[in-house]
Amino acid sequence: MAAYNAPLRDMRFVLNEFMDPARLRALPGCEEMTPDLVDPILEEANKLCSEVLFPINRSGDEEGCTIENGVVRTPKGFKQAYDLYRDGGWNGLTADPDYGGQGLPRAVALLFEEMMCSANLAFGMYPGLTHGAIAAISKHGTPEQKATYLHKMVSGEWTGTMCLTEPHCGTDLGLIRSRAVPAGDGSYRITGSKIFISAGEHDLADNIIHLVLAKLPDAPKGTRGISLFLVPKFLPKPDGTPGMRNGAMCTALEHKMGIKASATCAMSFEDAVGWMVGEPHRGLAAMFTMMNEARLGVGIQGLGLAEVSYQNAVAYAKDRLQGRAIDGTKHPDKPADPIIVHPDVRRMLLTMRAQIEGCRALAMWTALEQDVAHRHPDAAEREAADDFVQLITPIVKAYLTDVGWDATALGMQVLGGHGYIREWGMEQYVRDARIAQIYEGTNGIQALDLVGRKMGAHAGRYLRRFFHPVLSYIEAKSEDEALAEEFILPLSKAFGRLQSCTAEVARRGMGDPFEAGAAASDYLRLFGITALGYCWARMAEIALQKQDGEEAAFYKAKLATARFFMQRILPQTGSLASQIMAGGKVLKEMEEAAF
Ligand SMILES: Cc1cc2nc3c(=O)[nH]c(=O)nc-3n(C[C@H](O)[C@H](O)[C@H](O)COP(=O)(O)OP(=O)(O)OC[C@H]3O[C@@H](n4cnc5c(N)ncnc54)[C@H](O)[C@@H]3O)c2cc1C
Repeated sequence: MAAYNAPLRDMRFVLNEFMDPARLRALPGCEEMTPDLVDPILEEANKLCSEVLFPINRSGDEEGCTIENGVVRTPKGFKQAYDLYRDGGWNGLTADPDYGGQGLPRAVALLFEEMMCSANLAFGMYPGLTHGAIAAISKHGTPEQKATYLHKMVSGEWTGTMCLTEPHCGTDLGLIRSRAVPAGDGSYRITGSKIFISAGEHDLADNIIHLVLAKLPDAPKGTRGISLFLVPKFLPKPDGTPGMRNGAMCTALEHKMGIKASATCAMSFEDAVGWMVGEPHRGLAAMFTMMNEARLGVGIQGLGLAEVSYQNAVAYAKDRLQGRAIDGTKHPDKPADPIIVHPDVRRMLLTMRAQIEGCRALAMWTALEQDVAHRHPDAAEREAADDFVQLITPIVKAYLTDVGWDATALGMQVLGGHGYIREWGMEQYVRDARIAQIYEGTNGIQALDLVGRKMGAHAGRYLRRFFHPVLSYIEAKSEDEALAEEFILPLSKAFGRLQSCTAEVARRGMGDPFEAGAAASDYLRLFGITALGYCWARMAEIALQKQDGEEAAFYKAKLATARFFMQRILPQTGSLASQIMAGGKVLKEMEEAAF
C-alpha cells in the first residue's frame, strides 16, 4: 500500500549543512532557528502530513468535490483534517506575529510546504491560495483591511482566493472584462465572471476572501488598467464576524485531470461589494509583488509529488520479483530477483532521486535568499538577495514542476502496469503533477520572463548574482583533488555552455525578439540543470568529508547520487546548448496554414 514519510534526514541536510545556517540565524527574528527548535517542528509536521493528510489523498481523488445549489463540499475527512491543521497553528507559520502568525523564515516553512504537497496536494491548495491572499493584503492593504481580515486569514478561520482568470483570458490579463464601479462610500460594486478559481467555494472555513482583478470605468486599456479588489463571501459585521452574503457565487466546478479534491470554481460576481487593495490601475503590479513567493510554492508542488512517487517506487522495486540480474543472480533463494537489480530500473530511480535532492537544495537556497531579501538590516544585502530571487524564481517554478511531471511518470514506469492502474496510487501523482506546469503562469511564460525580463535587467545585474558565486566556486575548487575531476570539471563545462548561450540569446534577442522566444524554454532548462549541477558539486563536497562515521551510509548515498547527476543528467546541457544555438528560424519558416 502507498505510504509517505517526510525525508527528514535530507531536509535537515539541506537546512543545516548545504545551506549556511549562520546566514539564516543572523537575520532578525531567526536567531533561534537551531536544530533544537526546528527538528521538533519538522517531526510534528511529518505526523500531520503522513498520518492525517496522506490517508485522505486517494479517497479525496476518488470522491472529488461536489456542488449543489452553489454549495461546494470537499471530500470526506477534509473538514476534520482542515480543523486539525488550523487548530495546530500551521496556517500561520511564516505569517506576521502581529496578526497571530509565528514569523518563521520561509526556509523552514518550505519544508512543511513540501510535506503537504507530497501528502495531499489537493488539500494544500486551500491554505496555499490563502497565503497568496494574505501576502497581497499585508503588502498593499489599508490598515483597516489588515485589521479586519488578516487575523482570521492567518489563523485559517477564513481562507482566500486569487481571482485573475476569465474565460477569454488567462496569460493575457490585459483583456480582463470584470468591472468595478465606485459606490460612493469608498466601496465598489464588482461584476464579472472568473473561471478556474482554486478554493473559490468550499466548506472548510467560515468565510472566503476573494482577491479579484477588475477594471474601473476610466481604466486605460491593457494591463495598466487593472485594479485589485477584496471581495468577501460574507461581509464582515462591525464585530468582525461574517454577516450578509455577498454577490460572489460559485456557478460550477471544473471536472479535471488531477487535484480533484481541490475545488476549481467558475465564479460569478454580481454587484458584489468590494474594496480596492492598493492603488487604482496598479492591481497587476500588486499581484506581481507576491508572485515570487507563490511561484516558489508551485515549484515545491512538483518537488513534493516527485518525492512521494520516488518513495513508493523504491518500496515497490525492492519488493517486486521479476527476472534475474543481468550480471548474475542476486537472490538465489527467491524465484526471481527484485527489479531494483536491473540497470534500467536503477536509472529511473536515480534520475528521480538526483533531480529531487538537487531541486530541494535549489529551493532551499531560493527560500533563504527570500528571507534575506525580507529581513536583512542592510539594504545592499537585501537588494542582492532580491536580485537573486527575481532571477531564479521562474527557473524554480518551471524546472521543479517539469521535474514533478517527469519524475512522477518515471515512478509510475517503475511499477509497470501496476503503476498505470489506480490500485497503487502512482497514476494520481502523475495527474496531480501536471497542473503545476500550467498555473501561476505557464512554464513557457516563465521561460519568457527569464529571457525577456530577468536576463537583461539592470544591465545583467540579476544574472551576476548567480554567475559570480558559481564562477568563484569553480575557480576556488578546480585544483581540489577530491572534487576537481568528478564534480568541478563537469560543472565548469555546463557553466561555460550557460555563459555562451546567455550571450548568444541576448545578442540574437536584441536583433529579433522571436529569437529570444524561440530559445526561452531550452535556455531555462539549461539554466536549471546548471544550477542543480552547482548545488550537487557543493553537496558532494560536504558528503566527501563525511564518508566515515556514524552516518556514513547517508553521505555515501549522497555522493553516489551526486556522481549520477554529474554523469547522467548534467551532460544534457550539451544538447540543450546545441538546440539553443540552432536558433529560431526553423520555428518561423513553417507557414501557419501548413500546421
Ligand atoms: C486547476 C486549475 C487551477 C487554477 N487556479 C487558478 C486560480 O486560483 N486563480 C486564477 O486566477 N487562475 C487559476 N487558474 C488559471 C491558470 O492560471 C491559467 O489556466 C493559466 O494562467 C494559463 O491561462 P490559459 O489557460 O487561459 O491559457 P492561455 O493563456 O490561453 O495559453 C495557452 C497556451 O499559449 C501559451 N501562450 C499564451 N500567451 C503566450 C505568449 N505571449 N507567448 C508564448 N506563449 C504564450 C501558453 O504558455 C499556453 O501554452 C487555474 C487553472 C487550473 C486548470
